[in-house]
Formats: sequence, C-alpha cells, structure tokens
Amino acid sequence: MSSTVRVRFAPSPTGALHIGGARTALYNYLFAKKHGGEFLLRIEDTDQTRFVPGAEEYIIETLEWLGIRPDYGPHVGGPDAPYRQSERKPMYKRYAELLIEKGWAYYAFDTADELEAMREKMKAAGVKSPQYNAVTREYMRNSLTLPAAETRRLLEENAPYVVRIKIARKQEVRFYDEIRGWVSVAGAEMDDKVLLKSDGMPTYHLANVVDDRLMRITHVIRGEEWLPSAPLHHVLYKAFDWEAPKMAHLPLLLSPDGDGKLSKRDGDKYGFPVFPLEWNDPNTGAKFSGYRETGYLPEAVVNTLALLGWNPGDNREIFSLQELVELFSLERVGKSGVKFDKKKSVWFNQHYIKTSPNERFLPELKARLSAEGLDAPPDDKLLKIIGMLKDRVEYTKDFFVHGEYFFRAPTHFDAETAAKKWNGPFVAGLLPILENLTDWTAPAIETIVKTEGEKNGLAPGKIMPALRLGLCGIGFGPGIYDIMETLGKEITLQRLRFALQSL
Ligand code: GLU
Repeated sequence: MSSTVRVRFAPSPTGALHIGGARTALYNYLFAKKHGGEFLLRIEDTDQTRFVPGAEEYIIETLEWLGIRPDYGPHVGGPDAPYRQSERKPMYKRYAELLIEKGWAYYAFDTADELEAMREKMKAAGVKSPQYNAVTREYMRNSLTLPAAETRRLLEENAPYVVRIKIARKQEVRFYDEIRGWVSVAGAEMDDKVLLKSDGMPTYHLANVVDDRLMRITHVIRGEEWLPSAPLHHVLYKAFDWEAPKMAHLPLLLSPDGDGKLSKRDGDKYGFPVFPLEWNDPNTGAKFSGYRETGYLPEAVVNTLALLGWNPGDNREIFSLQELVELFSLERVGKSGVKFDKKKSVWFNQHYIKTSPNERFLPELKARLSAEGLDAPPDDKLLKIIGMLKDRVEYTKDFFVHGEYFFRAPTHFDAETAAKKWNGPFVAGLLPILENLTDWTAPAIETIVKTEGEKNGLAPGKIMPALRLGLCGIGFGPGIYDIMETLGKEITLQRLRFALQSL
C-alpha cells in the first residue's frame, strides 16, 4: 500500500447532509491535510431506491461553503474516476465472482416468499431476529446446498440471484479501531450479508470495500453508525487477501438533552439548524433551515464541528481551519457521544462576525435591502452601520434584523419601553434645539442633548432611552448619538415629530 495518506468522504445521496456528516467530512479533511495527504469525495449511490435528486449537489455545495474542498471527486475528477458508484457498477460483479471462486461467497436464489417463510419458521422456533447465516443457509436455495449442475442451470436461465458472503460460524473477527481500540465480534453473531443484489448492483458493503481498495484509501474515518459494518468489511478484506485500511469510528452527535442521536427534527425542537445549508426535500416537500441561511459564518460552523468530538488537549477554543489542520489528531477524538450545544455555536459565530472586516457583510445586507424593497444607502454609510452593530449581532442576517430602523422608520413603538422610558415633554423641548444644530456629528449632538438634560435635571440614562425609542422603536442598540448622526438631521427630526404624535 502506498504511504501517502488518502482518505475519503463517502456519503450516500439520500437527502441533505446532516451536520454529523459534515463533521465526518471535516475530520477526514483535517486528517488528510495534516499528513500532507489526499481527501476524496465518493458518492455511494448504489441503493437507487433511496436516491434523492439534488442531494449530491447539496453535499458538494456544503463542502465548498465550509472550505473543505476534496482533491478528487465526481465534480472535479481524479485518477480513480468515476467517483460515483453507480457509474462503476460493472466492476463490482467481477469482485463478487472472485469471492465465489475463492469459496468466500455464494449464489443465493431464494425468492422473497422463501425468505419470508424462513423468517416465520425461525420466529416460531423462538429466534428473535432470524438471519441468513451459517445455520439457516443450509436450508435455503443457494449454490452451497444445490447440486453444482442445478446452480449452473439456474445461472444459464438467468434466474434472479444475489451473492452472499459466507461467514464462518466458528471465528472471531478482531480489528483495531484508532479511536475505540480492539473490537471483536464472534462469527456466530454475524450474518451472510448480500454483496451483490439481483439487479447486479453491489450493496454498500461490497462497493465500499472494493472502492476503498481501488482508491488506495489508507484510513477510513466515519461515523459510529458504521461500526457494526466494520467486522464484515474486515472479513471481506481478508477474503480478497487485501490489507485493510486503518479504521476510526467517530463518536455520535447527540441531541442537546443528551437523549439519543441528533435527529433532523431536533433542529426545530431546539432552534438551531441540523443541516449546513437550507434543504427542501423534493420528495416530501419538507423544508429544513440551514446554518448558512440562518446567518452563521462557515468558520463558526467548522470551529463548532471541530470541537464536537475532538479536543486540542488544552482549553483553547478558537481555531481557524489552518490551525485545525496543524493540530488535529485521531488520538484526541473521544469515544463517547457528544452533545450539540447551540449557545456555543452562537458564541463562535459572534466571535467570527466581530473579527471579520465590515466589507464581508455588505453583499448580504444589500441583497436583503433590495429584497425588502428598500434603497441601499451608499457603501460607506452601510459599512458604518455594520461597524456599529457588529458587537451585538448573533447571526449575519441580524445586521438587517437588528438594524432595520437605519433603513426604515419604525411603525410601532415597543410598549414596555414606551411605558417606562418615554418622555414627551423633554423630546418636544429638544426638537427646536436640534433643528438649530448645524454641526450634525455624534459628539456635537451629545453635547447639546446632555446640556438640555442637565437643565431639566435629567441624567443621560433618562434621556437616551427616550430618544432611542422615538428613533428606533425599540429599547436597545448601539450608541444613540451615533445612530442620530447616521440617520442624519432630517430623518432624526421627522421621526421625533412622528413619535411625539404617536406616543
Ligand atoms: N455511504 C456511507 C454513508 O452514507 C459511507 C459510510 C462509510 O464511510 O463507509 O455514510
């Protein structure tokens, strides 16, 4: 096996990529880049019944957004193309036949009814989950029980068949997992899984093992849900006489209450997206929110996912993708499930928003203004507004959501703030003074407002909330004098007059 580290992310295009899948992709990427290796994307679409249109594009777009670009894949090609298993179909059959020749697999001609009858019989005999295995295969119609001539005849007649692995009962399958240590399973607990289906398509197990071999994969890094498949994969490597890649099964992502796996419904339940990008399921019409559309920056998602299973060994928390590449190691990935923490992901997002240049948020804000049918102020003004809000927003869309009053006069006033903080007589008295102010800058506005307050025995804490309510309609936000400067004299006066009439 070559010494270059080569890993793959091998999703099935059966729907949108869950953030657990995005984490698997990220860890593969980090591991590859840390070792100067290659990261490839392979689309495992052998189960045509579960194919969902748009899912592959979704996966590629997600990786692109997160900045974890595969070196090879269906969208970029590469030395082992095609990277879509459905396009590799003819190849797998040869490998299934090779296993039959070597005595590691066999043809099974059982019909659906025959399989069902077997299951019923076993259940009646008290077997809870009947399997096609070393015991039951003896009673079924397969190339191990039928005379050779009969098998030949059935094949010549094109009778439908599947190819099954022949699992020896008296064996112990043992392998080393880079995260879990030694894993061992008794042959008696394994069944004769189908390797090649009657439509000639390989199952996940055969295609996965054959492709990992042909694509010279050195490390299989995938979610814990695939751990039960790993013993079979090791049997297959042995049967082919191939050296198995190293394996690492990542811990499960748990729902915030720690109650089971993070599911797609948890997003709605706990108010955070479970998918990287928004997803409209073409089959069910169901719509799921995405991190990108909710207003997360990709760095925040990467940072969040990096720490959901891995730790740097100290209490640092903020890591760029490049830093993660340098620090990542499988030794620091834990075994036990990790709970998703929404607060933490928002905290990361705020950090990356605060430390990004204001220009970064300009396109999204302009697009939103245009979608709202509002004229965008000049860029320099927008940049100033972004700068004023930057320390307060949680999501990028909040530049509009929290700053709407910069672009549109408030149509209603927060009732609680109005009851507690409004001071009509003071604002009325302030109006002519503001009208006369020629130097419309925050410091100049502040000086005259404060002076007027002092004259009336009002501390700034009593004045500012009233002005904020009148100008913005709400009780919180950036410095009020900066807001007044940004709104301009004309609009400030108009809004205060309107507030005096309405409140
Ligand atoms: N196709 C499997 C999936 O959807 C791949 C599992 C693996 O990485 O082996 O996740």
